Amino acid sequence: MRRKGLAVRPPDSEAELEKIARGLLRAADVGDRLPTPQEDLIRCAELVHGGVIDLEEYRESRVGKISKALASGLEKVMGLLDVREKTIYISPKAHQKQVPFLIFHEVSHKVIPWQVEVYDYFEDNFETLDPSIKKVFEHEANTLGSKLLFQCDRLKKQARDYQLGIGVALRLADDFGASYHSCLRHYVATHDHMCCLMVLRKACYAEEYRGQLEVPFEVCYAVQSEKFAQEFDGYIWPVKIYSDHPLYGLLDATFGSEVFQDNFKIGKENEDSVDVVVESWTNSFNHFLLIKGRRKPFSGRKKVVVAA
Ligand SMILES: [Zn+2]
Repeated sequence: MRRKGLAVRPPDSEAELEKIARGLLRAADVGDRLPTPQEDLIRCAELVHGGVIDLEEYRESRVGKISKALASGLEKVMGLLDVREKTIYISPKAHQKQVPFLIFHEVSHKVIPWQVEVYDYFEDNFETLDPSIKKVFEHEANTLGSKLLFQCDRLKKQARDYQLGIGVALRLADDFGASYHSCLRHYVATHDHMCCLMVLRKACYAEEYRGQLEVPFEVCYAVQSEKFAQEFDGYIWPVKIYSDHPLYGLLDATFGSEVFQDNFKIGKENEDSVDVVVESWTNSFNHFLLIKGRRKPFSGRKKVVVAA
């Protein structure tokens, strides 16, 4: 089974979002500070941080003011922007590494002028924070949130000092105060060289495939650098990877915190295939495959000593 729409593309408003991000980073006088100072951005967006949300208290205080759907979905909420009270709340369930991105996602809903006029509340859960989400407002808030977290092209510029690889992205994630997942995504999407990231999850079920029961890897989404998108425009992504797929062995052998790698060929239908190196890593929830050209793309000036 294959489909074309797995590659995440920037929203149509990307150029405007870039302007908004640069304006806010300038107004907050971020300068060369890393990670991006959350409180300064919140203040510049004319918001306050309401702290960790007490869902029961919040629900009580909103009786009659919010919809039943929102009230019943509050348990799943990871971040919330109350537009009228100009306040951001974060769920106590949010992992510490997710908090900066969550905050910048909520800030984004406030500073995107065509969004803030529309709703009184923005409530975010795993679905709205998923990079492959198709809802335009959420895709925009995720894109702008990333730009604030990674300070537009600052991550891209710092990545130029190193060879292309998963270990570099994991190291840069710590510098930017980002989760490994969000940093890998932004690292690949903005990289100067030809590369692509596939994000997969091992299925929690077995199904019959070619006469035997198998647990496949499901492809959640893919992110491409500009050069990869030019080179492989029209590449059709697999939706599931079974044991007869060339990448299955590498995926299945990946464990712990190490980065594994192997050589493969990829190509468009009816065209010659291209040699690539694929790096594989897992955070034990998702599996990440970094596909890159076989030849060393460039020699970075710095070396990552601790790879992962
Ligand atoms: Zn949102």
